[in-house]
Amino acid sequence: MNSLRLIILLTGILCFDSSCREKTEYSKFSGFAQGTTYSMIFENPRRFNVAAIQDEVEQILTGFDLSLSLYVDSSVLCRINRNETDIPDEYFTEVFRRSKEISALTGGAFDVTVGPLVRAWGFGPDAHKNFRETDRDSLMQLVGIEKVDIRNGRILKADPRISLDFNAIAKGYSVDVISRFFDRKGIKSYLVEIGGEIRARGDRGGVFWKIGIDKPADSNVVPGQDLQAIISMKDRSLATSGNYRRFYMEDGVKYSHTIDPKTGYPSKNRLLSATILASDCMTADGIATACMVMGKERAIEFIERNPEFDAFLIYSDDQGNYRTWISEKLIQYIDQSR
Ligand code: ADP
Ligand code: MG
Repeated sequence: MNSLRLIILLTGILCFDSSCREKTEYSKFSGFAQGTTYSMIFENPRRFNVAAIQDEVEQILTGFDLSLSLYVDSSVLCRINRNETDIPDEYFTEVFRRSKEISALTGGAFDVTVGPLVRAWGFGPDAHKNFRETDRDSLMQLVGIEKVDIRNGRILKADPRISLDFNAIAKGYSVDVISRFFDRKGIKSYLVEIGGEIRARGDRGGVFWKIGIDKPADSNVVPGQDLQAIISMKDRSLATSGNYRRFYMEDGVKYSHTIDPKTGYPSKNRLLSATILASDCMTADGIATACMVMGKERAIEFIERNPEFDAFLIYSDDQGNYRTWISEKLIQYIDQSR
C-alpha cells in the first residue's frame, strides 16, 4: 500500500556524507506498475544505462503480472482460478509454497484462499459487495489453504470453486524479484520500493536507508505528506498493511479489506497499520496482512514469539488517539521526533 514513502535525504545522485571516503554514484528511476508507483535507487559505479535498467525492470514486472495478477484476465493465477489450467509457473509455485508456510506460521490468519470472500465483500477486481449472512457457510467451505496443493507440478483443489488471491503478498514478492535482478547485475547497494513495500540492500554510502511511515489518518491520502516516523534500514525488507486507505463505508460501518479467514468477516480492530521488517519482502508483506487480521494484542504476542521479525504498529486508544508499539530490537532504528 502507498503508506510508505522513500525519504531521499541526500540530494542529487552523489553521496557527500563524511563517512564515504570516495564519492559513490547512485542512480534512481521511478514509474508506474502493478496499479501503483515504484521507485528504485542503486549504486552505479559501473555506469549502467539507467533507461535500459528501467526497461528490464518493467519487463520483469509485466511478466510478473502475467503470472500473479488478479487484474490481468489471462494471468496464470486467473486461469488457475477459472480451472482453465492446472499448471503453475515458477512465480506461482514459489509464492504458493511461501503462502502455505506463512499460513502455518500465523495460525491461519494469513490465507490466500480468501478469494471468494474478498469478492463477496466487494474488494476483488470486479468488486461490488454482495455478501449475505446466508452465504457465509457455503463461502467458508471454499476457504482453507489445506484444500489446495501443488503435486507433480500440478495444482490440486479440493473444490473447483476455490480461488486464490495473492494480493496480500504479491507486491512484496515483486520487490524480492526485482532485488534478485539487481543482485544478478552485481549491484551491492540498492533500495527497491513498489507501492510502499521495500527491500534495502547494503546502505547508502555508510548511512542507513531512511524510510518514512505515514500517519494512518483517513484524511492522509498523499503518501509522505504527514509522517509518523522514520525507520533506518540496512539489508532488510519492510512492508505495511493498513486499513485506512483501502476500505469502504456502508451505513456508517467501515469495512476493511483484510478478511479474517476464520470468521469470513472483514477484520475489525484497533490496529490501523502494521509495518513489518523481515529478511525478504514477500514474508514481510504476508506477516503485515496477518497482523491486521490478528489485531493489536495477538499481533504483539506473535511478533514477540517470532524474533526474526520486527514491527511498528499504529493503533487507536479508547480516546481515538494514535498510539504506537515498536518491537524492542527496532526502537534504536526509529526516529519519531516529527
Ligand atoms: P495493503 O498493502 O493494500 O494494505 P495487504 O498486503 O494487507 O494490502 O493485502 C490485502 C489484500 O489481501 C486484500 O485486498 C485481499 O485481496 C487479500 N486478503 C485479505 N485478507 C487476507 C487474508 N486474511 N490472507 C491473505 N490475503 C488476504
Ligand atoms: Mg500484505
